[in-house]
Amino acid sequence: MAKREIYGVLIERLIQVTHQMHFDRDLYVELIHEICEVYHLAKGAIEFYSTPMMESLGKGEYYCDFDNGKAERIVLRERVVSTTKAVLIGTLYAEKGDPDRETEELNQLQNMLRIIIGFVSRRRLIATLEKFGFSDIDGYNNFRAFARYLDIENVENRLGGKVAFHIDLHNFGMVNHEIGRENGDKVLKNYYMMLQEAIGDKGFVARLGGDKFIGVFDRKVKRAVYDIFTGTPVSYGDESGNRVLITAAAGIYMLPNPFMMKTYGDIMDRIMIASSTAKREAGGSIVVYDDKMKARKEHVKKVQAEFREALKNEEFVVYYQPKVNIDTKKLSGSEALCRWIKDKNIVPPIEFIPILEMNTDICDLDFYMLDHVCSDIRRWLDEGREVVRVSVNFSRKHLVSIDFLDRIISTIDKYNVPHKYIEVELTETTTDVEFNDLKRVVCGLQKEGVWTAVDDFGVGYSSLNLIKDLPWNVLKIDKSFVPKSVDEEDSISNKMFKHVIALAHDIGLELVIEGVETLDQLDVLRLNNCEIAQGYFFDRPLPLKDFEDRLTQMVYS
Ligand code: C2E
Ligand code: MG
Ligand code: MG
Repeated sequence: MAKREIYGVLIERLIQVTHQMHFDRDLYVELIHEICEVYHLAKGAIEFYSTPMMESLGKGEYYCDFDNGKAERIVLRERVVSTTKAVLIGTLYAEKGDPDRETEELNQLQNMLRIIIGFVSRRRLIATLEKFGFSDIDGYNNFRAFARYLDIENVENRLGGKVAFHIDLHNFGMVNHEIGRENGDKVLKNYYMMLQEAIGDKGFVARLGGDKFIGVFDRKVKRAVYDIFTGTPVSYGDESGNRVLITAAAGIYMLPNPFMMKTYGDIMDRIMIASSTAKREAGGSIVVYDDKMKARKEHVKKVQAEFREALKNEEFVVYYQPKVNIDTKKLSGSEALCRWIKDKNIVPPIEFIPILEMNTDICDLDFYMLDHVCSDIRRWLDEGREVVRVSVNFSRKHLVSIDFLDRIISTIDKYNVPHKYIEVELTETTTDVEFNDLKRVVCGLQKEGVWTAVDDFGVGYSSLNLIKDLPWNVLKIDKSFVPKSVDEEDSISNKMFKHVIALAHDIGLELVIEGVETLDQLDVLRLNNCEIAQGYFFDRPLPLKDFEDRLTQMVYS
């Protein structure tokens, strides 16, 4: 066959190979070898630089599909700059004694080389798109990669029985702060690789951004993966051998078997709900999704959506629960407790307070309560009634707010209510940061003559030391801490109760015992010299009119 005919065949095959949808690398390499043989070439190479600047620095990629090891001199060199300013250079080499090529042959080689360069640049573009499409700039698999994985597994019916997760690392901001951002990045990468290793090839892990990861794994590796979630030491990856303990809040969804995914939401919604529950709980927690969570999530959304309007419409009302001196049977004070009157039903605080505490909505409710209490007290005073002190609950969410104290005082003063009639109930705190805020508030209220009470003492991390350090007026003992009766005087609960009461008396705190329901409990209080009880034994929280009757009557029979 004449050279020209051979050229015709080669170029046709070249076009075919390089324009196929499914690139056949073996066929391509075979063809390149054939071309080099026919044209007596020693080597063919392509260089790729992302910009001309990178070219001048010599920083790029190099592809060579044929090299017989005898290349001595350049036959042809083609340099192309693409519209994206990428530089591609194709070079063909010959052996030492090889004669100069005729113009026609050079033209043929040039045409083929251009096809090859075009082809390489197209493939390079596709590879780049893949890379950026399915991984983030730090090289982690991204959500799109996860979605693609789910699609493939779903079609192959391989998702049933697997475990899907979303995790959010605990305090990673703090880790960054402590070991530096650069080391933090390394820890994150190592953590991701540890997860990938534990999950193996029957699952997938991707980063959702920041310190959040999602993925799927086989039930067989559940133990190993859970171990990582609950807490694992991760190295910075340098010689120092330094490691940090990483714990995660994990939301898990056990995919039923069989399982058919209709939308990504079938998996994503559930792991996100479980994960946000896990995040609210302390420590390296793992929460497995169940259908009740979805209902709960919807309830949360509903309350948050309806709150503002309900506040404006005055749907929240103050109930007053009396506090009674157990010796004199006299009404000694009362606690304001919130009720939501919604479509004629009474919604108890447990159904909305914790939700309002997820953001700062609670702060507006607390001041609404204080405002209404002050308005009631003002009216009672104006009516010439005998008035008792009313305690109002304030969420710990207020503590960080600088104007918390001023706002309390100005609300009370707006109604010209003597400060001694108001008591602020706050729960204990555990962190030093909060303690300082708490100190500022409690001391400030003390100075203003507003009473302060520690609420719910005995649940959580109670510490009398913490209480000793602040000038509280009242200690409210939680109902769960009160022994059922005096019968087992030596029981641990009785002993603890006795000591706490004695200590509180020592410090000079007034004691209020919450949740007193029975005569037996009243005996326990008497035995321990507790003065004031608040509980169903005397009264439940009462609507305004009923409480006003108690104010009139003043003494319990
Ligand atoms: P808390 O401040 O410890 O209030 C005492 C709770 O114990 C009240 O529940 C009261 O009804 C209940 N209780 C009183 N006596 C007895 C008894 O003898 N037996 C039993 N089993 N329970 C008794 P309630 O009204 O459901 O309020 C629950 C919690 O909601 C309150 O606990 C308080 O932490 C919070 N809360 C209520 N209103 C407000 C508010 O306006 N603002 C804030 N931030 N929290 C509030
Ligand atoms: Mg309270
Ligand atoms: Mg309480």
